[in-house]
Amino acid sequence: MSVPIVRSVAQLRQIVAAWRGEGVRIAVVPTMGVLHEGHLSLVRAALEKADRVIVTLFVNPKQFNNQADLAAYPSTEDEDAAKLAPLGAHLLYAPDAEEMYPAAFATTVSVSGVSEGLCGAFRPGHFDGVATVVAKLFLQTSADFGFFGEKDFQQLQLVRHMARDLDIPITIVPCPTVREADGLALSSRNVRLSPAERAVAHKLPSVLLGTAERLARGSPVLPTLAEARAAILAAGYREIEYLELRDEADLRPMTSLDRPARLLVAAWLGGTRLIDNVRISGVLTG
Ligand code: AMP
Repeated sequence: MSVPIVRSVAQLRQIVAAWRGEGVRIAVVPTMGVLHEGHLSLVRAALEKADRVIVTLFVNPKQFNNQADLAAYPSTEDEDAAKLAPLGAHLLYAPDAEEMYPAAFATTVSVSGVSEGLCGAFRPGHFDGVATVVAKLFLQTSADFGFFGEKDFQQLQLVRHMARDLDIPITIVPCPTVREADGLALSSRNVRLSPAERAVAHKLPSVLLGTAERLARGSPVLPTLAEARAAILAAGYREIEYLELRDEADLRPMTSLDRPARLLVAAWLGGTRLIDNVRISGVLTG
């Protein structure tokens, strides 16, 4: 069994039109490839909910604010397709940049509010790139469901907001973060960690979870966050871009835990930027 691959909007639309004729429900799982268990968990969840699952593979140049990061982003399409086939994914949509952004492409989708602060403050243009490509993927696939990981929590909220604002008839389904045995969130960027860095990387989620528990038990927010920052740096992380408590729904900053919240972090371990987040509520998950 192999998964069919299409590279053009026209081919994709033809297949989707045939599926629509059968009256089936369609899900889309957008990815940038280099698939790991985190991505595959989204595909499995999509297969449970929908009759047809389209996995998209597109390394979106518009969402890289750093050209070196884009150039270093690996491409493993054959391996990715081999991982999708046994799951039963129905289609891999892998357009190239010219297909996605033909000459004279001039439209940007920009979502204010949820895209401000956190990663938005440190990666200028990143969320405009994400919103633009995800809007296109939703319209190209006309999927009924879009599956996104909570690992990229700000992105998840941005996509929800964008679909709602633009009246795109799609239901966004969030999926929990998949972690290594030691707690490190799976990420395509983890392969860039040296063995020494990998050995300490798990301290980021462990500080995050410990801090979330302390906050849930009533520890004062600002001093607790200051201690968490110190612990992340002491663990060997080079720099913390942000460690913030935010309203889970609209990502507004919070200084007291009077409603469901997320604790979100971005930090550099050597030359690798890692992000993570956990939920804070009566029952802790993440
Ligand atoms: P990416 O290929 O990094 O753009 O990610 C594609 C999708 O997979 C996004 O919705 C991510 O949030 C999701 N994802 C990435 N890593 C994980 C993970 N460790 N657990 C769950 N979902 C993930």
